[in-house]
Amino acid sequence: MKTKIFLYVAIFALAAAACNDDKDTTGPKITLLQPENEAAFARGGELLIEFRLDDPSGINAYKIDIHYAGEGHEHAHSQALSITPAHEDGEEEEHEEPWEFLEAYTDQKGKTSAHVEKTLTIPDDIHGGEYHLGILATDTEGNESQVYIDIDIEE
Ligand SMILES: [Zn+2]
Repeated sequence: MKTKIFLYVAIFALAAAACNDDKDTTGPKITLLQPENEAAFARGGELLIEFRLDDPSGINAYKIDIHYAGEGHEHAHSQALSITPAHEDGEEEEHEEPWEFLEAYTDQKGKTSAHVEKTLTIPDDIHGGEYHLGILATDTEGNESQVYIDIDIEE
């Protein structure tokens, strides 16, 4: 904890020393165009993800994160990846695992704006239900941003 605070102070001091008022301190602006929040998809179908990234100091990388929302968990979405499948042991045998998709891309590195389209195929052997779909992006200054929506995958 102390190291962390020290690090923040150090970073702040550095930032202040190098200070220009027009320093970029926010992550890329993410404009998600598709899908819409709470859109529904069929298992085995296609999922088109379309979004814009804008950042004055340049895009570094971005990620697409899709995970099962389970019993409606709420979490700080920066911690979105520490989800364990909700398996109860016992009578009911569960063959379908929740879908987890996480992929990082650097194909827009250095651009100040980008239009990204990715088509994913939804596996057909997964749990249906509510999922979270997130776009996470970093810029060349190390700033991060993220956008999450809910999508529904039909049983
Ligand atoms: Zn989530």
